[in-house]
Amino acid sequence: MTNVTESGSEATGGGFASLGLDERLVRALSELGYEEPTPIQREAIPPLLERHDLLGQAATGTGKTAAFALPILQRLANRDGNRPSQPFALTLVPTRELAIQVAEAMHRYGRPFGATVLPIYGGQSFGQQIRGIQRGVDVIVATPGRILDHLRRETLSLDTVETVVLDEADEMLDMGFIEDIEAILSSTPETRQTVLFSATLPPRIHSIVKRHLKDPRHIQLAAPVAPKGEAPRVRQTAYVVQRAFKMAALDRVLDLESPGATLVFCRTRNEVDELTEALSSRGYRTEALHGGMSQEQRERVLKKLQSGASDLVVATDVAARGLDIERLTHVVNYDLPSAPDSYVHRIGRVGRAGREGVAITLLQPREHRLLRIFEQATKQKIEIGKVPTLADLRAQRLEITRAALRETLLAGDLESVRVAVESLAEEFDLSDIAAAAVKLAFEATERAVENDEPHELPGFEPRERQAFRPRPEFAGDGPREQNGPRRGGRGGDRSPGQGMVRLYVNAGREAGVRPQDLVGAITGEAGIAGNQIGAIQLADRFSLVDVSEDLAERVISALNGRKIRGKIIRLRRDREA
Ligand code: AMP
Repeated sequence: MTNVTESGSEATGGGFASLGLDERLVRALSELGYEEPTPIQREAIPPLLERHDLLGQAATGTGKTAAFALPILQRLANRDGNRPSQPFALTLVPTRELAIQVAEAMHRYGRPFGATVLPIYGGQSFGQQIRGIQRGVDVIVATPGRILDHLRRETLSLDTVETVVLDEADEMLDMGFIEDIEAILSSTPETRQTVLFSATLPPRIHSIVKRHLKDPRHIQLAAPVAPKGEAPRVRQTAYVVQRAFKMAALDRVLDLESPGATLVFCRTRNEVDELTEALSSRGYRTEALHGGMSQEQRERVLKKLQSGASDLVVATDVAARGLDIERLTHVVNYDLPSAPDSYVHRIGRVGRAGREGVAITLLQPREHRLLRIFEQATKQKIEIGKVPTLADLRAQRLEITRAALRETLLAGDLESVRVAVESLAEEFDLSDIAAAAVKLAFEATERAVENDEPHELPGFEPRERQAFRPRPEFAGDGPREQNGPRRGGRGGDRSPGQGMVRLYVNAGREAGVRPQDLVGAITGEAGIAGNQIGAIQLADRFSLVDVSEDLAERVISALNGRKIRGKIIRLRRDREA
């Protein structure tokens, strides 16, 4: 094992190497563009490498996956040449999506050792999973229910497991997995290392910790850092948007805000490069700033921003450390920072010396918890904004055109063009002529926007607008029953279509739920296309959603326990359908 990096002037890698990680892992992280460990990683990795049990309070977005994955993968490094065919680590996660995501991350980090990481979740065929297990696995990432099925069928043994991670433990408990988790833990060796990550620590989590973790180290995100009375004067707005639409959302928000110099933060060097390219291709004068650049290169970038030769600088936290750019009006968190203090540092780049600044944050639906933590850290509310629609932007441009025309009218001096008006007036109505002139002026303000982007960008919004078809007769004046929809006596076909099943959701209009919330949550959380969702019917206290039969379980497991409009939702098959 090595503690030094050979990365020379690069401000990268050293951080990870100093945590005691294998050189090859450090290199893999550097290739992914990670510049330094996040606070959770810095605190969790050393005790995990020493095989302590650990209780980590961390939400999605803090870098917790790498925090538990890297020490597990390090064991592979130490074991080169002598590879087990039985799993030595098991990670339990609440949903199928997370199982896939965590397995992918572990696979990426563990590439130098050819780590075999197998995701196991409900809805996939047992045969396929059994073949995967039999081929030999290092790490299993699984939802509890399906692992338990394998244990009962004796198609999987956990006797060789040395480390168990319970990821998003509070979510797993909310989804009723407690008994499954207990049963799974009791199938693993007593000598195992147990790691529990949870965004919140309700008493039920403490009770699991007490029963299953041995003398655990306890880590949590640092306490708020904004010193009293010195909180920067920053207007903070967050936009919830699905990952695929973040770029388009940023484009629209920038268009609406018309910022001066702007600093856009990403997490990794690779993302900085990608976003710089994407913004440049959309016509923004954009420069990249990251730890892989020389001091001279960085200074050149900053000078360009300072002088107005560029509008946007896309940077990592490391590269932007200590920057003070006077012209800066906006800070954008394109990716959420991994801890409250880095949020405070980022937005503190504007709102200095009495100037008012604007902080814009883009986040994915599942990252909402971190936002609450940032609010506590800044002791200020972060408004949730609505990403402008194309119509909003158009209305704004028309307003700008109107104002510009008004200025021109007030300034007079129109004689040189009046002859054109007079000649047109012989043929056309004067107000039509004026409208045509406005149209030309308006069109001249048009930017090259991506025409294939949807009018409204999905946050909790539908990915495909044709996907939701609320029944007007049902959505209008909902039934009052609490336990099921009123049936019969109303027009329309009430049964789900061929190959579809109907799901009952325990929240409806009274909870502020709209059809697009349901479609957005289903497409976002269960990762299925909008066109696989059928009719949606909203009642006051519940909703009914039709989905393809073969996707029903996936939707139920992905959404159960999630929040829609602040309410924890429960789903089940609507049995009377
Ligand atoms: P997580 O909280 O595990 O869901 O991670 C959130 C995001 O942060 C993921 O996209 C990771 O790829 C990224 N990430 C994790 N650790 C780092 C790091 N040290 N530097 C930059 N990005 C990171």
